[in-house]
Amino acid sequence: MAKKTATASNSFSRAKSDAWFERAQQRIPGGVNSPVRACKSVNGKPIFFAKASGAHFTDVDGNTFIDFCMSWGPLILGHADPEVVAEVQAAATRGLSYGACHPGETAMAEAILEAFPPYEQVRLTSSGTEAVMTALRLVRGATGRPLIVKFEGGYHGHSDGLLVKAGSGLITGAQPGAEASSQGIPKEIAGLTISLPFGDLAEVEKLFAFHGSRIAAIILEPLPANNGLLMQTPEFLAGLRRITTQYGSLLIFDEVISGFRLHSGGYGALAGVLPDLVTLGKIVGGGMPIGAVVGPTKLMSLLAPVGPVYQAGTLSGNPVSIAAGLKTLEKLKNPAVYAHIAALGARLEAKLADAKIPWLRVRRIGSIVWPYFVEGPLPTRADEISPLAIERYNAMYNAVLDAGVYMPPSAYEVMFLSAAHAEAHVDELAAALIAAARAVA
Ligand SMILES: *Cc1c(COP(=O)(O)O)cnc(C)c1O
Repeated sequence: MAKKTATASNSFSRAKSDAWFERAQQRIPGGVNSPVRACKSVNGKPIFFAKASGAHFTDVDGNTFIDFCMSWGPLILGHADPEVVAEVQAAATRGLSYGACHPGETAMAEAILEAFPPYEQVRLTSSGTEAVMTALRLVRGATGRPLIVKFEGGYHGHSDGLLVKAGSGLITGAQPGAEASSQGIPKEIAGLTISLPFGDLAEVEKLFAFHGSRIAAIILEPLPANNGLLMQTPEFLAGLRRITTQYGSLLIFDEVISGFRLHSGGYGALAGVLPDLVTLGKIVGGGMPIGAVVGPTKLMSLLAPVGPVYQAGTLSGNPVSIAAGLKTLEKLKNPAVYAHIAALGARLEAKLADAKIPWLRVRRIGSIVWPYFVEGPLPTRADEISPLAIERYNAMYNAVLDAGVYMPPSAYEVMFLSAAHAEAHVDELAAALIAAARAVA
């Protein structure tokens, strides 16, 4: 049966997606289980997936799209990689959850540690959010200090203490804390987090000079990819390492996106900076729910039941998630995977450049691609992102979708290339973007 691919503007029906969205909104807040899926910022409505394989998914109306969102990062091998699915199926027949020890947990810890020298131990959770929550409790337990420092535009999951934005700026005052960026977070909790701009070591120094003895840790994405792609210099990361060490604070790299994305390991190793703890998620679950905290035994042994820092999970170390993750990590040992997806990224850049539309470009590292549709310097901090770039992405989004190409439904999110993408898919993306760009120009 021929695949129905959306080719011309609005040439395909979304009647069933629209009907499901109506129905979902009755019973699920906003019709979604994670807010950005509502497609509000791109003036769209959610497309309801029916099935997915490789680089494509098919919606409930029978339309097929090339997917460049890839479940927000986990699917580095593409949708439903046959070898991963086979492992998942085999694991499922052996039991969906044990709530008890099994060999896969240790195999997973060993597989992660092989890629993350010189760390020694891993605690598994069911999501990246949970991994970060655990890491924060651990650094507070280890240091006996209350404050956490993060950076504006970094995302670390939806836990209370991390849904904060910069406060009124008085970082040298008695109350340095940030403001909550969500209702429902008491100011006492938000106030334990300090949010600074990326890239500014002088601000970090100033903060530590006043509050260093109360700061448990700095947490950041060493490769910030949740608010555009705000690449930081190795010097910035090294500076954070130096300052935290100087003040007896700890450094956490949240590599939930970047872990195993650019090579079989973390971004910290590429930048030459080793944090005290690393948090992982997304790729290590191979498309199934997972999170992981990685660190030295000295810190990790503070976790219960060895130490006094409590952490637990009914589904932690889930055998089906581990089956998907282990097979994925095994396949990622083949460097050809990374070479392929990076080459696709370079091809996309070249194709866009051919169109000679100066603002039509992407910010890219390896297989992480952020469309940033404006000329001039590329932003390295959240407040440098041009509103025009966001406007253009939003204006072009639905035309690209109508051409059968699914991008993340937010201008602040990055696209992910996978092993299942081929040159032809990237060419279609480029062609759709160029056509949409000409239409808005
Ligand atoms: C996705 C993400 C998280 C949260 O992970 P979930 O599995 O969605 O809870 C945390 N940190 C970073 C850097 C992420 O990209």
